[in-house]
Amino acid sequence: MSDILIGNGTVVPLDTESQLIEHGAVLVHESRIAAIGADSALRQHYPAAQYVDADGGLIMPGFLCTHTHFYGAFARGMAIPGDAPRNFPEILERLWWRLDKQLTLEDTRASAEIFMADAIRHGTTCVVDHHASPHAIDGSLDVIADVVEQAGIRACLAYEVSDRDGSAVIEAGIHENERFIRSLRAQRHQQAEEGRIAASYGLHASFTLSPATLERCAAGGAELGVGFHIHVAEDSSDENDSLARYGQRVAERLEANAILGPRSIAAHCVHVNSGEIGRLAATRTHSVHNPRSNMNNAVGRAPVEEMLLAGVNVGLGNDGFSMNMMQEMKTAYLMHKLVLGDPRVMPGDLVLQMAFQHNARIINGVFSPFSPDFPQVGALKVGAAADLVLLDYLPPTPLSSGNFPWHLIFGMDGQHVNSTMVAGRWLMRNRQLLTVDEARIHARARELSQALWQRL
Ligand SMILES: [Zn+2]
Repeated sequence: MSDILIGNGTVVPLDTESQLIEHGAVLVHESRIAAIGADSALRQHYPAAQYVDADGGLIMPGFLCTHTHFYGAFARGMAIPGDAPRNFPEILERLWWRLDKQLTLEDTRASAEIFMADAIRHGTTCVVDHHASPHAIDGSLDVIADVVEQAGIRACLAYEVSDRDGSAVIEAGIHENERFIRSLRAQRHQQAEEGRIAASYGLHASFTLSPATLERCAAGGAELGVGFHIHVAEDSSDENDSLARYGQRVAERLEANAILGPRSIAAHCVHVNSGEIGRLAATRTHSVHNPRSNMNNAVGRAPVEEMLLAGVNVGLGNDGFSMNMMQEMKTAYLMHKLVLGDPRVMPGDLVLQMAFQHNARIINGVFSPFSPDFPQVGALKVGAAADLVLLDYLPPTPLSSGNFPWHLIFGMDGQHVNSTMVAGRWLMRNRQLLTVDEARIHARARELSQALWQRL
């Protein structure tokens, strides 16, 4: 593979040590970035490289998403019979837990494929997924891994173990996580070694996990050397359940059961109190903020700045919303200001820090057990992953490293992404998807989703 020199663009490294480069260029050697600098200098130094013209647009790192559910794609436009759900437990029971029970392996494949096209279109290059299909568990993570490999993005997969569907389903969920993690480890799995596929141990949430199940999963995860991916205090009902049944708040219960730790992801944390924030920080557990989902489910505002101040690494996910992560960033930027009645909170640079640096830390934590040489993501620098996007955004006001976050929040969006590269390979060029057939995927998914809606 010859080197690729992407030039004639404004390079936005999003790396704390480097500034934005106008008339800049990025040299890609195999799967990594080999040089960054002035376009003219790099063209002179690397005359043999294949030159790609960014047409005066932006060259920046690919977007990252550290909590999502590929399985939710068929819910788009789906009607829920009867009155609208009044609260979060009703949303789970009447929407998500009815949908996931109907998923076959074929539905799981089509659902993941929808997310691949969506991710590549919007420049999202690495995703952490959390899967549920309680009546088609065996092999479900292989099906998703296959879809991810064909699409060419990076993804960390997990199956959400839960007690809600009885003992056979608990066993199958535990087995699927452990079998998949072992398979990535055992056979010198090429995609895993290259840092394209990883796994964490999936758990649904405290309120659907008995002490016996938690104990088994904790032992399994420890033996396999991976962290856990679990919903934490998404709704007040999770805290109320844990207090009533175990006399502990959710994060305390999870810490006591050895679920927290530096490779574990606590999604949401909307209702954690200061004591729990302290436990998350002390165990170096990551938290993931999903503002669109939290607003949609009306569960509340996560204490994001309080967690950050206490030293918790908080990233940004989408909880199954569209893979246009700029929409998630804009929502994070707006929601805290409204709820707290304070325009100073959640400034643009903090939002970008969560979306890039903090998400990169989470991704490094979950990928490194499988890929010891896992490259830096979320920043353009020498040695980092060649995971980047080109955008045809022409700033109408001066653009600098300092004000880039506010350009993104007020002027840019997913449709500005025209090209997406992961590990040195183009997945989209000039808005043409190169690894997935979007028309075929959507046609097949329309058939399968209609059939699933009829089964409900
Ligand atoms: Zn979720």
